[in-house]
Amino acid sequence: MRAECHGQHISGAERLLPGNELESAAIEMLQRALRHPRGAAQKISFHVEAVSARCVKSGKLLDLSNNSVDSWPQGRRLANRLLRKVGIPKAVAEHSIEILATGAAPSGQSMRGAMLIDADSGERLESDPARGVRASRMDLTAGCRQRLCRLLEQLNLNNSHVVEALTLATKVCSAPGIVAELCWSDDPDYLAGYVASRTLGYQRISHMKPAGEERGGRAFFVRCSKEELPNLVAWLEQAPLLIDQIGLVAGPLHRGKEV
Ligand code: AMP
Repeated sequence: MRAECHGQHISGAERLLPGNELESAAIEMLQRALRHPRGAAQKISFHVEAVSARCVKSGKLLDLSNNSVDSWPQGRRLANRLLRKVGIPKAVAEHSIEILATGAAPSGQSMRGAMLIDADSGERLESDPARGVRASRMDLTAGCRQRLCRLLEQLNLNNSHVVEALTLATKVCSAPGIVAELCWSDDPDYLAGYVASRTLGYQRISHMKPAGEERGGRAFFVRCSKEELPNLVAWLEQAPLLIDQIGLVAGPLHRGKEV
């Protein structure tokens, strides 16, 4: 689903579902588009496509850690440190945070998808800097969603932002050539963000931007040759991944629980 207002992107969402759940999911997405905090949609588009069950891979969610910080500058410093832990040079980490903070699209607003950033040089690699790359065709099985929501409930983190972002980050981080992901929301009321990678898991950071800020976005840090890039983009946008196992969920109240 994609929603716009006066030509500006306001929200989008992706699902991978059994056919008999399509109707209810479409209604949910329509409601979300109509009531988004960034404004009521004027144009809503749905794209529905059959995916052969044979092509669907299964997977395990990234482990989640919850980092509480007191302010967004502190959150961004933590994000910077986490990115450096996975080998992103300091200058590249700092510059990527700066781009998201100032609006990654050429218009100075948020992009519709993610930037692709060369993890070593910091060069932007996406072919359309307004659209970027949209990770798609990923979801949780009903059982996995239920177990995850129960665990997140105990941390007071059971909201659609966390569930969807963890699902997306799991797909992105399993892509061949992806080193890490950085994200904070474009929703003016949702201030949290994360850094994710295969080794760090999903590191939620409670504050990544000031309240009321609409600029947010995603950076996918890539280490692959230019020739391999089209395959990586196709994988992110098209390879179906249905996550059926949850990982560890750790937070200030719980040291880690496995289900
Ligand atoms: P959200 O987490 O939905 O608030 O989205 C924050 C930002 O992440 C958006 O402004 C987009 O730039 C980007 N984004 C949202 N969904 C996707 C996606 N499926 N794939 C890549 N980037 C996305």
